[in-house]
Amino acid sequence: MTISGEARQDVASAITTTIRRIDAIPVALPLMKPMLMAGVRIETAQNVLVRIEASDGTIGWGETTSAPTMSGELSAGIVAAVEHLAPLLVEQELRHHAALAQRCLHAMHGNGGAKSAIDMALLDLVGRRAGASVVDLLGGAMRDSVMPMWLLGNPSVDADLAEAAQKRDEGFRFFKLKVGVKPLAEEIETALRVRCELGETAVLCADANMGFDLACAQKFVRQVGEADLLFLEQPVRAEDLRGMQALMAVGNVPICADEGIAGAPDVLAHDHMRAMNGINLKLLKVGGPRAAMRVAALCEALGLSITVAGKIAESSISAASTLAVACAAPNVDWGLNLTHLYLAEDLVRTPLAMADGTFACVRGVGNGVVVDETRVERYRVR
Ligand SMILES: [Mg+2]
Repeated sequence: MTISGEARQDVASAITTTIRRIDAIPVALPLMKPMLMAGVRIETAQNVLVRIEASDGTIGWGETTSAPTMSGELSAGIVAAVEHLAPLLVEQELRHHAALAQRCLHAMHGNGGAKSAIDMALLDLVGRRAGASVVDLLGGAMRDSVMPMWLLGNPSVDADLAEAAQKRDEGFRFFKLKVGVKPLAEEIETALRVRCELGETAVLCADANMGFDLACAQKFVRQVGEADLLFLEQPVRAEDLRGMQALMAVGNVPICADEGIAGAPDVLAHDHMRAMNGINLKLLKVGGPRAAMRVAALCEALGLSITVAGKIAESSISAASTLAVACAAPNVDWGLNLTHLYLAEDLVRTPLAMADGTFACVRGVGNGVVVDETRVERYRVR
């Protein structure tokens, strides 16, 4: 198939406009119920939306969330970072969107969440102007759908078991246990009993969010063999690569790095030390969808696995871009975690929905969701 010169010109002319304004909008989104993970109990997601408006009035949306133990960012800091970066974008031509996103990446150290929300909003805006989906702007879909996991993070074994059974009946076939919260014996019991409850065909993994010391983590991986975990995520502190290496040496459960990965240099450092089998790829850690695709390509080259995830909890605005990366990245073999599922109310008119245990690749223009600005105002923090 050939693309006519006329069609190429249409795409190019569609994004021949300038960026008129950028707003950072802090929101507080209640969760359906509190989520327990090591060292933290989350009841309300403190998120920041980025709204980028083109000169013709077209709007692109992005979102990130405060993540003190992940990116170190808090809501007020994210707003300040977006306002700091905004002068690099305002009055610039949208056709330079890739270079503008890159300029934002280099203009500040850290602040991956703020940069990610800007990159999401730029891609959404370009997609809406050009009639293209974000997944196509990221290079196209490698797969039509991705299997999401459900997070289990309750105060008791029985509550985790009951929720696992309920969510299995709703269609989930992939579960992640939040561990490093209960006493170690209960964590091990939970993993083994949830496996019994779900049967052999369900996929089960666990995430300690740095909540184990090395001795506990070693006991955990040695004693949960029958739970057949796909991976154990970030069992020890982010900076403890030797601890991760020691757990790899046990060999019982594949090891995933999350809090320890803020970008490509961390992937290289972990790989050099054989400190993980794969990573949790979050857009807010690496600086946005485009940066996530570059990290995914590095992981593919190194033979590492990837699970793509949002942080607890992001609305369908961020979830749509996260899903686009999960569909476009070459090697997402450890599944997907979309966290809009844990919110009491979403910020878009039609939240992303699961069908037959999977999320289908979003093919609409831009990120494919329509923001409900009335709800944004309802949850806005003033
Ligand atoms: Mg994690």
